[in-house]
Amino acid sequence: MVWIFLGPPGAGKGTQAVLLAEHLGIPHVSTGELLRRAMRNGTELGKKAKSYMDAGDLVPDPLILELVREVLAGAKGCILDGFPRNIAQADVLGAILKGVGLSLTGVLRLDVPDEMLVARIAGRAREESRADDSEATVRNRLKVYAEQTAPLVEYYRRAGKLVDVNGEGSIREIQTRIREIAAEAAGGTKE
Ligand code: ADP
Repeated sequence: MVWIFLGPPGAGKGTQAVLLAEHLGIPHVSTGELLRRAMRNGTELGKKAKSYMDAGDLVPDPLILELVREVLAGAKGCILDGFPRNIAQADVLGAILKGVGLSLTGVLRLDVPDEMLVARIAGRAREESRADDSEATVRNRLKVYAEQTAPLVEYYRRAGKLVDVNGEGSIREIQTRIREIAAEAAGGTKE
């Protein structure tokens, strides 16, 4: 299975993606995490990505695709979190999946009211002290989401892949909704 998590920063994609990946026993692929790891390890790619991430801008597609290609090469399925983030990345993802004989199962779009996004990001900034959680950067990340990533909603809706998930509630409640959707897609529990 290949699931994409789609939603603005603070929607809870990362948390839910990790839980679903554990449940399904497939890798969780977060481009944000891969980038932060590359930065920590001081790789060339990490150095190139840093200024974009610090500003809350998208890291250029070639760098992202280099990361994702490697990870997807041997995968039997995966949960994609934070990728694709624009139409060009979505097009390339389609080609990569075809190349490795996988197809996209669906796109889980987490719906969360704006006020909740801001509150969640502020909470995370306190807990994790992520460099890109400063107020100006967060504002830019929300803008970048609206301009570049939100068009993927229509892109995947037209492809018949989009599933809206109510992103309000406790982590467990939301995860339960997501697992039901995944089970249904797998032809499982629901009759
Ligand atoms: P969030 O979804 O909360 O913004 P992420 O960890 O997914 O957090 O991403 C953090 C930053 O990493 C983004 O603001 C961006 O700079 C960079 N990034 C992550 N994924 C991508 C991607 N697919 N394309 C371009 N940049 C990305």
